[in-house]
Amino acid sequence: MKKLWRELLGGAAVGALLFAGTQGLDLFPVLLLALTAFFMWRLLPTSALRKPAPFTRPVMGSTVTFDDIGGHSTAKKEMQEALQFLLDSRQAEKLGIRPIKGILLTGPPGTGKTLMAKAAAHYTDSIFLSTSGSEFIEMYAGVGAQRVRELFATARRKAKEAGKHAVIFIDEMEVLGGQRGRHMSHLEYDQTLNQLLVEMDGLGTEDSPRILVIGATNRADLMDEALLRPGRFDRIVHLDLPSRQDRLEILRLHTARKPLAPDVDLEAIARETYGFSGAQLESLCNEAAIWALRRQLDAIPHEAFLDSLEKVILGEKHERRPTLEERRRIATHEMGHAWVQEHLKPGSVARVTITARGQALGYVRSSPQEDTLLRSQKELEEDIAVLLAGSVAEELFLGSRSTGAVSDFRQAVRLAREMVKAGMSPLGVVDPELLPKGAFHQAMSQILKGVEGKVRRMLEEGREGFAVLVERLVEEESLSGEAFRQWLAEVEGARAPIS
Ligand code: ADP
Repeated sequence: MKKLWRELLGGAAVGALLFAGTQGLDLFPVLLLALTAFFMWRLLPTSALRKPAPFTRPVMGSTVTFDDIGGHSTAKKEMQEALQFLLDSRQAEKLGIRPIKGILLTGPPGTGKTLMAKAAAHYTDSIFLSTSGSEFIEMYAGVGAQRVRELFATARRKAKEAGKHAVIFIDEMEVLGGQRGRHMSHLEYDQTLNQLLVEMDGLGTEDSPRILVIGATNRADLMDEALLRPGRFDRIVHLDLPSRQDRLEILRLHTARKPLAPDVDLEAIARETYGFSGAQLESLCNEAAIWALRRQLDAIPHEAFLDSLEKVILGEKHERRPTLEERRRIATHEMGHAWVQEHLKPGSVARVTITARGQALGYVRSSPQEDTLLRSQKELEEDIAVLLAGSVAEELFLGSRSTGAVSDFRQAVRLAREMVKAGMSPLGVVDPELLPKGAFHQAMSQILKGVEGKVRRMLEEGREGFAVLVERLVEEESLSGEAFRQWLAEVEGARAPIS
């Protein structure tokens, strides 16, 4: 129908122009205007002349249960407690309990926030709507707010149709719920956030169907305070990186339907994967299966997991092989890390390699560490020493540093900052907020300089042996922790280890 009208109007316009032309009228300005309008319409991708693209979201039930989530036992319990009001709404109403309208899941990427929201929908037999903060933000004022209204209206409608409650999941909440007035085009952001607050304030106990909003963010510090007030996102559930026991549970979940060879020791893999997120563990199991497929094996051996570790941490191997000179520099850098680490924490180096993968040109992997909640001053200083050792080795043995150490420095600075904040600097216990920037910086650089001096002395003392190991690493490219320790024992001979 619409098409017919368009064709009729188009035909009439062309007819009118032709008629005007035969009457001797000058058609040039009219044609110019028409052409300009056409180009504006076509060329500007989301031109102000056009309506923004429709805001589509998948609406679905969730099949994920809390049993599909490994670890996070406290978080799961907190979630189930919070969800009780949806399951037992009549009792909640009788007791005059204020309904929970929003739960904010915080934690690093890949720790299972989306899984948790899906499990919440399944647990409460609700429909599940998923969206992300960035989907609300367009350049045009009012679009975000309209999308928020639309989202809640859809949730209400779909839930009513299904005779269920609704869970709205908003990922990347920091984009939508960032502190007001922070953004460049702040008016649009503020309007969108205000609309979300209005919608959440409008959710009541007597509502049927009930709507629960679950937000997820890895930057809880950026959230606008108004969002965290009672009656809004008043439950905050934190999901940490998994502990060793949690990693084991996650590995068991993701290998449950994979054929494992008898030599697979999941406990050992859980120990080796310190610092991995749930998503990385899932990826590790997948890569191990691909490893077995490539070799036409019927079952996945333990070796497949060990070989896949580096790929998951760093990415694919590079095609381009560095030049001999580059390899020597990379080997010096990595040997610096490994040398200092092994002397400070004997037995801790698991692999030294100069095979480039992902962003890294080389890599030293550490042996399993125990999960710790607290770090001592000594441990922090040792970590800084290991981080600085690569660059110091380059300077000592090659005469100059390179850009390869940027991320090492970033991490070292972060640790030094933590130390100053924890009162481990010559400044003692201080309020970092009240400290002049210069003083804070000076305390940090004092720590870094002190550690750097120690590292330089350690490397200088082992100068000859170090050079031999670098040459061997350039040749071998990759060696296990045991092989490295054997080399080290050879070059150090009966000499007392450096301390
Ligand atoms: P987030 O939302 O925190 O970034 P996701 O929930 O999207 O993380 O997790 C991505 C994937 O990682 C999941 O689909 C799942 O395969 C895996 N995963 C993450 N955490 C866990 C966990 N605790 N248990 C089992 N699998 C997990």
